[in-house]
Amino acid sequence: MALAAGVGGVWAATALPNMPALESPRTIASREAAERRAEHRAFTAPYLGQESQEIRVAQGETLANILTRAGATPGDANAALTSVSNVFNPRSIRPGQPISLYFQRRSPERVELTGFAFRSAPGASVTVNRVASGDFTARTVLMPLTFEIARVAARVDTSLYDAAQRQGATSEIIAQMADVFSYDVDFQRDIHPGDPFEFVFHRFYDDKGETVRTGELLYVSLSTNDRKREYYRFQAPGDRSPQWYDLDGNSARKALMKTPINGARISSGFGFRMHPIMGYSRMHRGVDFAAPSGTPIMAAGEGVVDRAGRFGGYGNYVRIRHASNYETAYAHMSRFARGIRPGARVRQGQIIGYVGTTGASTGPHLHYEVYRGAQQINPMGLRVQVGRNLTGADLQLFLAERARIDRLREVRQQETEAQIARATQVSEGGASRGLAE
Ligand SMILES: [Zn+2]
Repeated sequence: MALAAGVGGVWAATALPNMPALESPRTIASREAAERRAEHRAFTAPYLGQESQEIRVAQGETLANILTRAGATPGDANAALTSVSNVFNPRSIRPGQPISLYFQRRSPERVELTGFAFRSAPGASVTVNRVASGDFTARTVLMPLTFEIARVAARVDTSLYDAAQRQGATSEIIAQMADVFSYDVDFQRDIHPGDPFEFVFHRFYDDKGETVRTGELLYVSLSTNDRKREYYRFQAPGDRSPQWYDLDGNSARKALMKTPINGARISSGFGFRMHPIMGYSRMHRGVDFAAPSGTPIMAAGEGVVDRAGRFGGYGNYVRIRHASNYETAYAHMSRFARGIRPGARVRQGQIIGYVGTTGASTGPHLHYEVYRGAQQINPMGLRVQVGRNLTGADLQLFLAERARIDRLREVRQQETEAQIARATQVSEGGASRGLAE
């Protein structure tokens, strides 16, 4: 130690004038460190100079605006935009959409646009890169998709459509659902904010979890003021396409009843006839069923009572509004059933009143009319029920499929609840309180 200290002390003093000055160990170490840094820079400079930023499109902002706002020269912005328009309409850019931009720092004051990327559609990105020639090339990159059987359970907010779409259902799925419910839900009047609904459907989503496309709808349910409706998709052996069935295997396709009364005979059909009271030939826009006074009259289909009271020559009269712009009317009743008043909901087959001979009537009968829009149509010409109710082996197969779908729903619901529980724990700072309030 003493030697080394002594030698160290004479280094500079003993160096000869014609020889290069010897470096102290400290100088060597710092020079080597500088060399390593320079070497490192040489390899990494192209990357170190890379800068990236993510910008969200502002209201009314164009893609060109964004590029220049981020620091691109107008020339580069134009060149990049020209290449983008080969694969994407720059006008389709939406406010709030994030765009990733990449720059090369050329000097402390100057950056150069090297590329940018953004999500052009669910499952697809547009990437734009500067190439060696200085031009830009743009291409669309498709993301790999993941398949799942998705379950959406939520409540209607402003509309069922909006609520379902926010949950990842596509307009195709929503259209399928509307079709399933078309026989017993009036979408204009029956659905209200807060009504719970559930869909189970095939979904393909991208790396960001966004729905790219949807496949088959398997299950739908909707609860409105009066009740819950739920339907399962099932293709019975021999059927050419799947149909929708309720819990018990009865078809979702419910036609209006042609004969809303039991044990009656048609006493007068639809068409021209001599009016028994008026005494002249006129169009009979309904069907008459002769039946003893007091015979129950049923609602021909699910709907809302539009009118229940005295109505001129019709006597005691009930008119019901159904889905799909159909209405039915029942005249000459002796009395109304309990609870039948305007605004009341009725189910198919529910008793709404009793046969009588009130109004312009010659004897106890039900005068029954069916309206499509404002037009009276012949009830006997109503579409025959398209769907059928499953029985026997078909019903057993259906019940197995129903159980499979219910199991899927259960698993998905448990997953969702677990997610909510985790999110709740995080927001409560780790306190593991239950979900019950
Ligand atoms: Zn009549």
